[in-house]
Amino acid sequence: MQDTLFDLPAKKTPMSLADVDAYVAATVPRPPSGDPAWDDHALAVIRAIYQAQGKTPPPPPEPRPRRRRRPARRPVADLFPGQTHVTVPLHLTNLPDPQPAKPKARPKARPKRKRTVHASVPAAPSTTVPDELIREADWVVVSSSGGKDSQAMLSSVTRRAQALGMLDKVVVVHADLGRVEWSGTRELAEEQARLAGVRRFEVVRSVGADLLERVVLRFDKLKAKAEREAEERGEDPATVQVPPAWPSSAARWCTSGEKRGPIWTLYTRLTQELAHLGRPVRILACIGQRAAESDNRAKLAPVEIDRSASNGKRHVTTWRPIHGWSDAEVWREIARSGLPYHEAYDWGNRRLSCVFCVLGCNSDLVNGARRVPELAAAYAETEVIVGSDFKEGLSMREIIRRAEALEKEQGPAARPPAGTAMAGYVGRSATALYLGRLKARRADLSLAA
Ligand code: SF4
Repeated sequence: MQDTLFDLPAKKTPMSLADVDAYVAATVPRPPSGDPAWDDHALAVIRAIYQAQGKTPPPPPEPRPRRRRRPARRPVADLFPGQTHVTVPLHLTNLPDPQPAKPKARPKARPKRKRTVHASVPAAPSTTVPDELIREADWVVVSSSGGKDSQAMLSSVTRRAQALGMLDKVVVVHADLGRVEWSGTRELAEEQARLAGVRRFEVVRSVGADLLERVVLRFDKLKAKAEREAEERGEDPATVQVPPAWPSSAARWCTSGEKRGPIWTLYTRLTQELAHLGRPVRILACIGQRAAESDNRAKLAPVEIDRSASNGKRHVTTWRPIHGWSDAEVWREIARSGLPYHEAYDWGNRRLSCVFCVLGCNSDLVNGARRVPELAAAYAETEVIVGSDFKEGLSMREIIRRAEALEKEQGPAARPPAGTAMAGYVGRSATALYLGRLKARRADLSLAA
C-alpha cells in the first residue's frame, strides 16, 4: 500500500497540494468520516513525496498561539491595603483628565407598524345625504357627553330617524369619565336619550385607572424613558427634564383613552349582534363636533369613513350632523326639543364633560373650582406629583386661587334660575316655553314608566 502511494508519476512531480489531495483520494481508501488518521495519512503521503524527490519535507506547521486576554486592571485600592488616601507626586497630578466615556449608540427606533386597513373598507362614504346615511346604516350610534352639542345633535338625528321610521336603529352611548366629569352627567345623558325616544342607552368606561390616575402613570413612563435616554447619552439621569404628562390640545390622549377606546368596545358588541348578516356591519357614528369650536374642528369633514375603527367585520362612518351649526342654532334646537340641559351652563360654563377640561376656557375652569373644590384639590395634588402645571401657563393652584378670590368677593353664589344660559340665545319667552315643554315631557316619561 505504501509503495503504491509513493509510486507517483514522474510528470506529476513536483505536485501541488491539490494534486496530492486528488491522488490520495483516488488511491487510498477513504477512512470513516471524522477519523483523524486521514490527516495523519495525508501528511505521511506528503512527507513521502518529498523524500521520493530527495528533498527534506517541511516541518509540520506550528500550532497557532492562542490569543491571550488582557488581564483586567486591578483596582488601585488593592495596591494600598488599609489606606483610603495616598500621596501622589505633583507631576502626576497634572495628567490630563481622562477622556469622557463615549456615549453609547442609541438603539435604532423600531419602525412604526403600519396599520393595514381591511380591503373591504371603503375609502370614502357612499353618500353624505343625512337621510341616506341613516337608511344605509345598520346601527346609528350617537355619542353623548350630556353636553349641549351632544343633545342638540341627538334631537336632530332622532327626529330624522323617527321620520324615516328607523328610530330603533339608534343607540346612544355615553363614555363615563367617573369623578373628573360634572356630577349627574351620566344620568342627564340617559334622560335626554329617553326623552328623545331612544330605547337603547349604553354606558362605557375605560378599564382601570381614571384620567387623573393615568396622568401619574404616564408621568412614571415618561420619566423612566427620559432617564434611560439620558443614561444612553452618558448624562446624569437625575437631572432629566420630564415632558408634561397632562393631556393638551396637541396631545389629546385623554379622548382616545377615556372616550374613543371604550366606545369601540360597543361597536364590537353591536357588530357581534348582527353577525348573521354575513357582511360587514355598517355603523353610523354620530359626533357633536362643530367647526365653530376650534380651527382643528373646522378642518374636519362632516362625513367620513373612520378607517381606524373599521375592519373586515364592521365599517364605521363618522357623521358630524351639526358641524356647521353656530351656538345660537344649538340653543334653538335644544329649546325646540324640550330636552334638559346641564345646570353647569346656567352657572356660566361653555363646555361640559370634564370639569377641568384641558381645552376649557379659564372662566370654565375657575367656575369648576368654585363648584367642585375637592376635585380641584385632587388636580393640584397631581400637579405636585408629576411636577408640571395642569395647563401650559396655568396651574390648578392658580385656578383655585382665583376661585377663592371670587368666593370671597361675591360669597357663595345661589343657583342661577333654570334657563339662564338658554335665555341669552333664544330670549326669555322662548325659554319659558322650553321649560314648560320640558316639564310636560318629563311628566309623560314618568307616566309611561
Ligand atoms: S373633556 Fe377635555 S380633558 Fe376631558 S377627555 Fe375630553 S378633551 Fe380630555
